[in-house]
Amino acid sequence: MRIAIAGAGLAGLSCAKYLSDAGHTPVVFESRDVLGGKIAAWKDADGDWYETGLHIFFGAYPNMLQLFNELGIEDRLQWKSHSMIFNQPNEPGTYSRFDFPDLPAPINGVAAILSNNDMLTWPEKVAFGIGLIPAMLRGQKYVEESDIYSWTDWLKQQNIPERVNDEVFIAMSKALNFIGPDEISSTVLLTALNRFLQEKNGSKMAFLDGAPPERLCQPIVDNIRSKGGEVYLNSPLRKINTNQDGTVKSFRIGGKNGTESTEIKADAYVSALPVDLFKLMIPEQWQKMDIFEKLDGLKGVPVINVHLWFDRKLTTIDHLLFSRSKLLSVYADMSITCKEYYDPNRSMLELVFAPAKDWINRSDKDIIDATMQELEKLFPNHFTGENQANLRKYKVVKTPLSVYKAVPGCQAFRPQQKTPISNFFLAGDYTMQRYLASMEGAVLSGKLCAKEVDNYSTYVDNTLHSSGELQR
Ligand SMILES: Cc1cc2nc3c(=O)[nH]c(=O)nc-3n(C[C@H](O)[C@H](O)[C@H](O)COP(=O)(O)OP(=O)(O)OC[C@H]3O[C@@H](n4cnc5c(N)ncnc54)[C@H](O)[C@@H]3O)c2cc1C
Repeated sequence: MRIAIAGAGLAGLSCAKYLSDAGHTPVVFESRDVLGGKIAAWKDADGDWYETGLHIFFGAYPNMLQLFNELGIEDRLQWKSHSMIFNQPNEPGTYSRFDFPDLPAPINGVAAILSNNDMLTWPEKVAFGIGLIPAMLRGQKYVEESDIYSWTDWLKQQNIPERVNDEVFIAMSKALNFIGPDEISSTVLLTALNRFLQEKNGSKMAFLDGAPPERLCQPIVDNIRSKGGEVYLNSPLRKINTNQDGTVKSFRIGGKNGTESTEIKADAYVSALPVDLFKLMIPEQWQKMDIFEKLDGLKGVPVINVHLWFDRKLTTIDHLLFSRSKLLSVYADMSITCKEYYDPNRSMLELVFAPAKDWINRSDKDIIDATMQELEKLFPNHFTGENQANLRKYKVVKTPLSVYKAVPGCQAFRPQQKTPISNFFLAGDYTMQRYLASMEGAVLSGKLCAKEVDNYSTYVDNTLHSSGELQR
């Protein structure tokens, strides 16, 4: 079967890869001149990379790890020590660590929590441990049912002191969905905690060894092409044309940089667009259908990725850091954590600025000034007194509508990959799969989508054969 796929983010590329593995011929159309969508990156005039987002791979990403293995690029994941490291706002320049010992889960997670005495008191640890029991015992069903509560409400309900939020979960909630615990659905935090506590290496983190479009997306594209599939950049989906019965007749593609758009016909069609952009494409005929109407409940959350190049080293930490700053979420010194960005003498900090709703329309200069003020708290030695570190250059990447905002109730709005339109399918981190809005979620959604398309192909084959319309 020939399948037209719009969007070359991880979901679209994963869908195309698994379709070509199954013997089909995917043709991917990407609107931009770069692969990867939310993991896209670019080189500046000096040849330094800047990215849409600081990206972390977790041990609890089975489909992503399988993909790396299938592509033979597993050595590109740079695994860090099994720890979570938080800045301490009350003691600027110091860190508090959760170190996971080499023991089976959940003992390693429990040991990591119990051995950290900087952030949580013993009564808080006990209250939190008891609060988590239902999630551990009742598993995914309980996690899904908790989508009616925000994380803050869930903590209250479990009689867990609010201070636990301030110490740990503001940082985690901002890292997971770029919003605070008062807004985020408890399903998101419970999903992460369940994976981290139930899998020995679930919370172990890796950085990619270079820029995602080259080091991850390109090998997927090479794999797709080696089996006869195609991938085109600068080829936006403009319109989904439908037949009278509502099925897809064609994709109108192209019309960028003065080129003519063309009608693309295929046996099946996939949207791997972000949800906000897909909503603008829904044909009139489909708009009253439940699955598409519900998408109104999903909306991208703003986030900003800040890159700062300094004239000296600020840290020696080879890991992700939870800043616990009001303005910032996680950050890392990419000159240490990422092989291709390595610099022995000068730091390059990549920082996620979140929540970003009050900042997304502000100037880059305002954002950098505010970030630098926060850095005074994170690195007081380098930004106070004499001989301060100098900022050599910066780059700000804004994503006004990034991953869907995971507020309470939105699980019910997430669509399946199979739609009521027989020859049309959805992929994307927002579609229903258990890893929420993440790279793992995007890869899994693509794989699930490919499976549905393959089932459709079998169905079409069988139906046409039994009706005698097709001669083998
Ligand atoms: C700042 C930031 C930090 C993040 N950190 C992490 C992290 O540490 N770990 C993690 O697991 N996840 C992280 N994520 C989330 C992760 O990046 C996403 O969940 C994932 O990449 C989404 O993939 P996708 O394919 O579903 O969507 P996208 O990546 O958005 O792909 C959609 C593609 O469709 C294309 N497109 C749009 N319109 C058209 C059109 N009309 N025609 C053709 N193509 C079109 C887009 O250009 C894009 O390439 C982060 C995200 C951000 C923004």
